[in-house]
Amino acid sequence: MAVPGSAQGRFPTARYNLTLQERKAYGMVSVSGRASCSTCASDISESKEELMKATGRCLCGAVTFEADGVESGMHVCHCSTCRRWAGGPTFASGVATVAFQGQANIGRFDSSTWAERGFCKRCGSSLFYRLKQTDQYIIHMGAFDSQVPFAVSSEIYIDEKPPGYDLAGAHPRLTGEEFMATLQEQ
Ligand SMILES: [Zn+2]
Ligand SMILES: [Zn+2]
Repeated sequence: MAVPGSAQGRFPTARYNLTLQERKAYGMVSVSGRASCSTCASDISESKEELMKATGRCLCGAVTFEADGVESGMHVCHCSTCRRWAGGPTFASGVATVAFQGQANIGRFDSSTWAERGFCKRCGSSLFYRLKQTDQYIIHMGAFDSQVPFAVSSEIYIDEKPPGYDLAGAHPRLTGEEFMATLQEQ
């Protein structure tokens, strides 16, 4: 697979085509012990280990979706393109499939030759990053109806992170160069 160079629109590419097993090996899927929802105390540990189903929508509700094979591990991208587009670092998870309602309200912006970014034309919510070649959707965390099952599994473009904040937790933090190298290893 061609590896994108220095053009804008950087975000995980080939990595999202890994199998669940491979993602676990890369530490991209959270495999933790028991976990519970801090609000309702229900056990959510199962969702930490498996790909899940999830629903979501934009702010105004003109776009809704149902996704399957949703990764519980969030990937955080600090690159300047993500920040400018989303108003901050991108928190997102890959999904195997997603079905949208309100397709006519989805705007798509070609942020690079290999990917586009989707948003609601009515309310402006940023919804997803889509790899054109593989038709793979990476859905923005804030678009999901519940963020409870998700945990950060990696940060990329850490070298582009603004100095004023840091994310806690023990997970891989890759520079843009290191991240691109992991793509080339495949
Ligand atoms: Zn909307
Ligand atoms: Zn990015």
